[in-house]
Amino acid sequence: MDYKDLADLIFPDAKDISYYEEKYPERNLKEGAIVTRFAPSPTGFVHLGSLYQVAISKKMAKQTDGVFFLRIEDTDQKREVENGVTSIIESLEDFGLQPDEGMTNETEEIGNYGPYKQSLRKEIYEAYAKYLISQGKAYPCFCSPEELEQMRQKQEAAKIRPGYYGVWAHCRKLSVEEMVEKIENGESYIIRLKSPGNEEKKIKHHDLIKGNVEFPENDQDIVIIKADGLPTYHFAHAVDDHLMRTNVVIRGDEWLSSIPLHLQLFYMLGFKAPKYAHIAPIMKEDNGGKRKLSKRKDPEAAVSYYSELGIPKEAVIEYLLNIANSNFEMWRKQNPDAPIDEFELQINKMSVSGALFDLVKILDISKTIISKYDAQKVYDEALAWANKYDSNLKNLLEADKEYTLKVLGIERGNVKPRKDIAKWSDLEENIGYMYPEFKQTDHEYEYQKITDKEEIRKILEGYMNLYYSTSDDKQTWFNRIKDLAESLGYAREVKEFKQNPDSYPGHVGDISTVLRVALTSKSNTPDLYEIMQVLGEEEIKQRYELAISRLK
Ligand code: GLU
Repeated sequence: MDYKDLADLIFPDAKDISYYEEKYPERNLKEGAIVTRFAPSPTGFVHLGSLYQVAISKKMAKQTDGVFFLRIEDTDQKREVENGVTSIIESLEDFGLQPDEGMTNETEEIGNYGPYKQSLRKEIYEAYAKYLISQGKAYPCFCSPEELEQMRQKQEAAKIRPGYYGVWAHCRKLSVEEMVEKIENGESYIIRLKSPGNEEKKIKHHDLIKGNVEFPENDQDIVIIKADGLPTYHFAHAVDDHLMRTNVVIRGDEWLSSIPLHLQLFYMLGFKAPKYAHIAPIMKEDNGGKRKLSKRKDPEAAVSYYSELGIPKEAVIEYLLNIANSNFEMWRKQNPDAPIDEFELQINKMSVSGALFDLVKILDISKTIISKYDAQKVYDEALAWANKYDSNLKNLLEADKEYTLKVLGIERGNVKPRKDIAKWSDLEENIGYMYPEFKQTDHEYEYQKITDKEEIRKILEGYMNLYYSTSDDKQTWFNRIKDLAESLGYAREVKEFKQNPDSYPGHVGDISTVLRVALTSKSNTPDLYEIMQVLGEEEIKQRYELAISRLK
């Protein structure tokens, strides 16, 4: 009896690994092309940290004419959620991060390196487990969970490193005959790796992000095939990333400490190991300290948060690139209108420790991105969002499309476009006052500097008496407001006021503010002239009359 007999007994039907090696050949890609992947459990949930990883992975693959694929890691069936795969794919699509290969919904996939769902790869893992057993590099372990628990308690009591290794690896010491006998007697078992490692020795590794790292060798006889017949994450990682021809594994740095084990697995299986890039998590300030952005505690950890708020996907991706490479910000300054694809991401320049999450920054990026959209694009994007999340906004946008395009066109397309819109969920607040329904609500008018009701009435009436016309050009219009200011004793120019602040109750800007607040109920809006142009003379008149009546 030898190892081969043992392997045949355990996996009688498993194919020879040469079958899979031929079926999944090296990819025919150009030199330097990166093949990488996103490998989530099908929980349906995408964490911002995962999106970060995906954005980096997809960009690196794209930049090098490589491949980015999606593999579903469903070997821990407790973590499975109904429609979990589809909802992960939809989240990636929401951010324009579709994989080139892999699962496309719960059951379908594209690409030649599948199946891309681990539960469908059982026979592949068996083939490689069989190969290891036949080489004496893996063995069946018959220890029951109770025995393992007793062992753990003994180790703990004796303050010894826990685990199944060295003298503690009971079943490693069984002879092939003993193993065969136990199997033939129907004893249940799992498969363990026979680790050749020595804890006293160190391995050196170069991580693309973390740089040179050193760890003790792995000496744990880890489980490779579990009692349910499925592989553990570690074993599946080695087999899958080898057969799918991944050459750079980009993943969260919680896996960095598994490097000794993973390199050992690749070595024992006779595979060339991929390169690794371990990404630091996105952090959050908490009580003066820092902690990982948490799925449980922080709503902003879920990528759905950004879709629901209506933050454009480009803004989120641009933010993620911003924290990925510190030179991004400078690049963006120098290339304000360049598509993001032109930025050359360098994975080895990513920070070793985690960036601090910054929603204000995301919103700021978003404002700039939206400011560059033309009115039609704002309309289309906002409507797409409203269709999903906000029926009020949808009604508003659709009621009079032509008019809404004019509203959205205010201060857009010029050198200094309006920058007040950060997310579609704010849009109604940002433009609602431009609609006739404005008059039906009893607004708070916060008039700022000039608060005297009589004075406000004079200004509004004065404006209505100007015989203004919305066909006036901006300069003529503004001169009329200056005339109005002057006629009421205010300074025509801000400069004049600043030189002699005691000679005037205020200046033309204060008059404009009253005109703005009475018209929109806001002290901060895009250009007043453009707003008036869109509202039209009749609406302006009605609003000023209303504002006067509400002064009482
Ligand atoms: N399924 C693992 C996880 O969700 C994948 C880690 C990896 O990328 O290798 O953490």
